[in-house]
Amino acid sequence: MKQASKLIRQHILGLLSDGQFHSGEKIAQEINLSRTAVAGHISQLAEWGLDVFKVKGKGYRLSRPFGLLSADLIKRHIKDARLALVQVAPVLESTNSEIKSRITKKREDLADGDAVLTEIQTAGRGRHGRQWLAPVGGSLTFSMYWSFPDGYQSMAGLSLLVGVAICDALRQYGIEDAQVKWPNDIYLHGRKLAGVLIEVEGQIGATAHCVIGVGLNVCVPQDQYDVGQPHTDLTSVLQRSVDRNELAAVIIESLWHYLDEFSLHGFGKFVAYWESLDLYADKKVVLQMGEKRFSGIDRGVDPSGALLVETRDGIMRFHGGEVSLRGN
Ligand code: ATP
Repeated sequence: MKQASKLIRQHILGLLSDGQFHSGEKIAQEINLSRTAVAGHISQLAEWGLDVFKVKGKGYRLSRPFGLLSADLIKRHIKDARLALVQVAPVLESTNSEIKSRITKKREDLADGDAVLTEIQTAGRGRHGRQWLAPVGGSLTFSMYWSFPDGYQSMAGLSLLVGVAICDALRQYGIEDAQVKWPNDIYLHGRKLAGVLIEVEGQIGATAHCVIGVGLNVCVPQDQYDVGQPHTDLTSVLQRSVDRNELAAVIIESLWHYLDEFSLHGFGKFVAYWESLDLYADKKVVLQMGEKRFSGIDRGVDPSGALLVETRDGIMRFHGGEVSLRGN
């Protein structure tokens, strides 16, 4: 997408985010475009999940206002003095792709903890190329860079660790009962609240460059968005509007803290905590690996982050990768 279109859409979003009516004519004047062009940009924003409607004679309005993401505001909420970058890009295909391209193109130096957030994610992904829906203004989507100089083996359990860090951050937000679903999701009251996507770049035996992607539902009402499975969002649960900049700061700081510890000690010291948050602890589960299915009872995880499942043949260990876990 052209940079000019990105900036125009960001500008229109900024105008509409106050939740007031804005006439097509005024928007057109302000950005020096025709009303038809403005309508085109707004319909693209709506396709990306912006909840905007039009009333004849009044103009465009959002169903609810929201505060735009701002790197300055996020940094203001962060107490940790570390020198990591926190950036907000108006429109990205996905924040993971953005950090991955920075790693591979070596366009700039990345430091552990650098984070990129975006207001509009046009091609958000889950595992196995599945789609991640992030309605504009209603989601917190960001990715963080972290490196592991000892290579792949030193990042075992990383997606679980990230789940723990997010649940801990949510606790500070008044959400005490978020849970983790092995290996990479956050649940609230049995519904999916957030997803984590970890991607790695690097050669075997060399530094593993990790991208930790997080998509969290801030205001994604169930009756408005079908994401393909039961989901929930913070606004519905807290019954109040959520300041995404403050939330981002809390989650980013929590990730920094947990990732520092993880880099030093590995996942082992977090096993008990993870198990206390496990959605399926001691419950019957089904694991899908391609065509193969295994069922058994979820008996927690080991220090490498592998899921322990009690089957008729004893305890079996499952590593992330191709495995999908479902309740039974
Ligand atoms: P797995 O157990 O294999 O991780 P998953 O269904 O949770 O399975 P992910 O790759 O983690 O898969 O996430 C992608 C899936 O999440 C999508 O296929 C869709 O069903 C669901 N999804 C997409 N957007 C959202 C969202 N905003 N909130 C909750 N769930 C979503």
